[in-house]
Amino acid sequence: MSEKITVAEARRPEAVGRVVVLQGWVRTRRDSKASFSFIEINDGSCFGNIQAIADGELENYESQIKRLSPGCSVTIEGLVRESPGKGQATEVQATRVTVHGTADVETYPLQKKRHSFEFLRSIAHLRPRTNTFGAVARVRNCVCNSIHQFFQEDGFLYVHTPVITASDCEGAGEMFQVTTLNLEDAPKQGGKVDFAADFFDRPSFLTVSGQLEAEIFACGLGKAYTFGPTFRAENSNTARHLAEFWMIEPEMAFCDLVGNMDLAERMLKRVFTDVLEKCPEDIEFFNLRIDKTVVETLRHIIESEFRRLTYTEAVEILKTSGEKFEFPVDWGTDLQSEHERYLTEKHFKCPVILHDYPSSIKPFYMRLSDDEKTVGAMDVLVPKVGEIIGGSQREERLDVLEARMKEQDLEPEDYWWYLDLRRYGTVPHSGFGLGLERLVQFITGMANIRDVIPFPRTPGNAEF
Ligand code: ATP
Ligand code: MN
Repeated sequence: MSEKITVAEARRPEAVGRVVVLQGWVRTRRDSKASFSFIEINDGSCFGNIQAIADGELENYESQIKRLSPGCSVTIEGLVRESPGKGQATEVQATRVTVHGTADVETYPLQKKRHSFEFLRSIAHLRPRTNTFGAVARVRNCVCNSIHQFFQEDGFLYVHTPVITASDCEGAGEMFQVTTLNLEDAPKQGGKVDFAADFFDRPSFLTVSGQLEAEIFACGLGKAYTFGPTFRAENSNTARHLAEFWMIEPEMAFCDLVGNMDLAERMLKRVFTDVLEKCPEDIEFFNLRIDKTVVETLRHIIESEFRRLTYTEAVEILKTSGEKFEFPVDWGTDLQSEHERYLTEKHFKCPVILHDYPSSIKPFYMRLSDDEKTVGAMDVLVPKVGEIIGGSQREERLDVLEARMKEQDLEPEDYWWYLDLRRYGTVPHSGFGLGLERLVQFITGMANIRDVIPFPRTPGNAEF
C-alpha cells in the first residue's frame, strides 16, 4: 500500500525504501536522451523540491509526462530511493504519474526565470508558488505560532477585540470609516451628514489598535493579548506601511515600563529562536538570496542585550553625531525613521529600546512621569526596519488622565468606560503593539512590507 506523504518527509533519508504518493506542482521537467524524464515537484511543505524519475515505459509518458511544464499539478506514486545526485538525499522512482491540471507554457506567468517582486505583486494569486513567497508564508506562519505559544506559556489570555469601533482610539492614524449610509444620498441634519441614522447610530471606523479594549481585560483578568488586523488610512507609500496589517498587543496589569521592555525583549528573542530552529531551510534561502546578514543578525540578537536609553539621551547622540539628516532633531520633536535607523544601525548596531519620550508627542493614555515633561513610552527599534514595537506604561491615575485628555482636546465623556477602569480598582499597567509584518520583514530581510503579507492593502491597491 502506498501512503501519501509530503515532499518534506520524502526528502529525508529515513523515507528511503517507502512506497509513497506525492502531490504537488511541477517546478521543472528535464528529459534524458535515454527515454526518461526528471520531474521536480514542490508541495509547499518545505523549501526544497523532490525529484521524480518517470520512465519512458509509463503508459502516459509520451502523451502527458513529456508535456509537463512548470505549474502543472500532479500525483506521483513510486518508491523513494537514495539519490545519486548532488544536493538531495532522496528521489522517487515513479510507477504512476497522474496529471490533474496542465499549465500552458505560453500563458502561465511563472516560467523558470527570476521575476521582480513588483511583477509578482501583480500576480498575488500565483506568487505563493514561488520559492520566495513559499518561504515567506512558512516563516510568517512560524512567527504567529511562536507568538501564540510564547503568550500562552506565559499565562496570557488571548482576547478578540473589535474590528469596528466608534472611538478614534488614540489618534494613532487616519481611520477608515464604516457606513451603510447611501453616499449618493445621505441623510442630512443641519447641512451635515446625519450619522445618528447610520448603522451604529454614530460614526464608526475600522480599528487602528485593540489596545483600549485589551486594557479592559488586563484590568480584570491580569494578562491579556490581542492578535488581529488593524487598519490605517495613512496615505504613505513607504516600504514599511500597509493600510491593513496585523498587530500583536499584550497588556499586563501590575506591570511597569521596565517589565514591559523586558517582555518585548523576551518575546522577540523567543520568536527569533523558534524561526531559526523550525525554518532553517527558508532562513538559509533568505540569507543566501535576499540579505546576507539575516542569520548572523538573528543569532547576535538572541545572545545580546537590547540597548536601552532615554529619548533625551538619543537626541544628544543624534545632535552630536555629525550625520546629515533630512529632518532636524531637537528635544521635543518626534524622531523620524532616519534617526531611528541611525541609532540602531550605525550607532549601536543592535536593537535599541528608547523610552521616556516628551509627553507633547505621545498619546493621552501614556503615563506622565514625575518630571511632568515626559511619559513612560518605549519604542523598540531594529536595523533596516526601524520601529517594530511601540508601547507604554498606561496612565492609571484618573485625575491625571482626565487632564491629559483635555490637553489633547478629547472629550472625557467619549471615553467613560476607559475612565471607569481608573475609577474602580485601578492598577499600574503596561503594554505594547508589535507589527507582525515589520517583524517578518526584519526576520526575512525582505525590503518591502508588501511582500511579507499575502494580500497587501496600500493606497490604490486592493486586488485579490
Ligand atoms: P510608524 O511611526 O512607524 O508609522 P506608529 O508609531 O504609527 O508607526 P504604533 O501606533 O506605535 O505605530 O503601532 C505599533 C506598531 O504597529 C508599530 O511599531 C509597527 O510595528 C506597526 N505599524 C504601525 N503602523 C503600521 C503600518 N501602517 N503598517 C504596518 N505596520 C505598522
Ligand atoms: Mn509608535
